Amino acid sequence: MLINTGVPTREQIELRLPSPERRARGPYAMVECFQEIPCNPCSTSCPFDAILPMGDINEIPAIDLDRCTGCGICAGVCPGLAIFIIDESKGDGTASVTIPYEFRPLPEKGEMVRAVNREGDVIGDAVVTRVLLSKKTKTPLVTVRVADEHVHEVRFFNLIDNKTVCDKTSSKIEEEPKTDDTACATDDDEIILCRCEGITLRTIRDLIREGYTTVDEIKRISRAGMGPCQARTCGPLIASEIARMTGQPVAEIQPSAHRAPVKPMPIEFFLGGDSE
Ligand code: SF4
Ligand code: SF4
Repeated sequence: MLINTGVPTREQIELRLPSPERRARGPYAMVECFQEIPCNPCSTSCPFDAILPMGDINEIPAIDLDRCTGCGICAGVCPGLAIFIIDESKGDGTASVTIPYEFRPLPEKGEMVRAVNREGDVIGDAVVTRVLLSKKTKTPLVTVRVADEHVHEVRFFNLIDNKTVCDKTSSKIEEEPKTDDTACATDDDEIILCRCEGITLRTIRDLIREGYTTVDEIKRISRAGMGPCQARTCGPLIASEIARMTGQPVAEIQPSAHRAPVKPMPIEFFLGGDSE
């Protein structure tokens, strides 16, 4: 069937699905590449060695989902557009699918789109929650949120001619058919995680997806934790977001390195009590 239609069977898909525990833990790559072809950028680009090395370039890629963080790099480099990042961990009746999308125009965050399955049939509406243009991978990655029962079917989307941006207060949206009343779910990406430097949760999540998975790396690249509070507020929050997205226990995430002084000190301290 695959060879004739390009559509994998339900059985082929089910064999690739992670365990329910792994699916609930955080984002993961769903590698829908089923034919032996001379191709391996997914394997060579994964910063976590989650797509196992191929002894023969024709091998079908095999993934270690305990290593996969759902960073999306493989999805952005796969020339066959055969990798999707699935996140079923939100637990609110919605789930997200990140789709490599090589068309123009790109949708905007918050835009309503028509979710399409592997056969090309429209199966409902979805809201765009993220559009990532990575310099590393070139292929844009578009994340759409759908009702969770559709997350293993949705593999593409069509733009809606009269663009609608998701807004629960908009009567226009209410006229649109929706998969359910969670289709306009808002995201918490705009939360400021590092108040001193004004760094949002979205920036932190983007960096983790790009492969920066220690508090120190994120601090150096984003300045989160370099402000007056010296990471006392954002450090533990960043650590817990790394733990959530990479599936590690939070106790194993190292805090960022600190150099003295570790808290704001008055100038008298350094001048031996003389403020002049
Ligand atoms: S999503 Fe990231 S960690 Fe997972 S296989 Fe792809 S590149 Fe590796
Ligand atoms: S890069 Fe894509 S097409 Fe190539 S082997 Fe990996 S999953 Fe298959």
